[in-house]
Amino acid sequence: MNSKKRSILLVYTGGTIGMMKDYASGALKAFDFSQLLKNIPELNQLDCTISSFSFNVPIDSSNMNPTHWVEISDIIAENYNNYDGFVVLHGSDTMSYTASALSFLLENLAKPVILTGSQLPIGDLRTDAKENLITAIQIAALQQNGKPVIQEVGLYFEYKLYRGNRTTKINAEHFQAFASLNYPQLIESGVHLTIFKEYLLPQKKKSALRAHQNMDDNVAILKLFPGINENIIDAILAAQNLKALILETYGSGNAPMEEWFLKKLKNAIKKGVHIINVTQCSGGAVIMGQYETSSKLKKMQVINGKDITTEAAITKAMYLLGSGVSHELFKTVFETSLRGEMI
Ligand code: ASP
Repeated sequence: MNSKKRSILLVYTGGTIGMMKDYASGALKAFDFSQLLKNIPELNQLDCTISSFSFNVPIDSSNMNPTHWVEISDIIAENYNNYDGFVVLHGSDTMSYTASALSFLLENLAKPVILTGSQLPIGDLRTDAKENLITAIQIAALQQNGKPVIQEVGLYFEYKLYRGNRTTKINAEHFQAFASLNYPQLIESGVHLTIFKEYLLPQKKKSALRAHQNMDDNVAILKLFPGINENIIDAILAAQNLKALILETYGSGNAPMEEWFLKKLKNAIKKGVHIINVTQCSGGAVIMGQYETSSKLKKMQVINGKDITTEAAITKAMYLLGSGVSHELFKTVFETSLRGEMI
């Protein structure tokens, strides 16, 4: 470790982590982040200089949208050279979507961007916020041989750092709210921080950070269920300007073989809609062609989402459409891992 103090920028977007109980009324109120060090004196023990930036109006993460993602990515890009690492405080509900979106928007990222939040507000007696916040900052400050250990977008929650675009919120009340079922954790926090170096994205060559600006929201998710009827499929495929559809299929990428269903998908593809096959199982991968029920999809050029999460698939589709990848290249680029989001 070299002895220079690390500088960390905390970006507060909202969510439970930033709330404090007003003991007079008992109500939860957004916390004044300029008072961070005063309210959480433990942070003074970290060997870091901490600055904070707060959204003008902190939001519940259910209100997140692609404009906010670009805003967060811009804040990081504008401050990139002045800080060693970034911690984004965010509501847990859509944190996996934001982590995925940021991973795509921030091309050539060579510094840590760690998202965290909490299930209980920071002022609650049994809060998980302090541990999550303190360890997220420690992880953002980690360096070895003068280089950041983490050079990607991570999500830290309940003693584990995951690759952000591999995560899913799996529980609405357990402190362990996230899982990364198709990719191992990157760091485990115990008495020491154990870093699983073999799973980190490789150190970046010296290309400059590129913060992309456009996400195209002409996308949809369709989760199959036994009994899904023509009207439902028609309604989704008839959405004006629909450009990409994440099709949540069964098991390893299987879908009904009824003629009407396959014909509707085929027509949509012919009209220029990209259809991406993602499994609705929490873990495992799509293997197109393993069963007869997916070989028809393969034949009609449905895109293989492999082991990508739905959160990463929808944000990757928005990013690729927004970045102007040509229609012909979309399938090849989608099937390629850009930020470690798929095999
Ligand atoms: N509803 C909150 C949010 O996502 C929950 C949380 O912060 O964990 O903003």
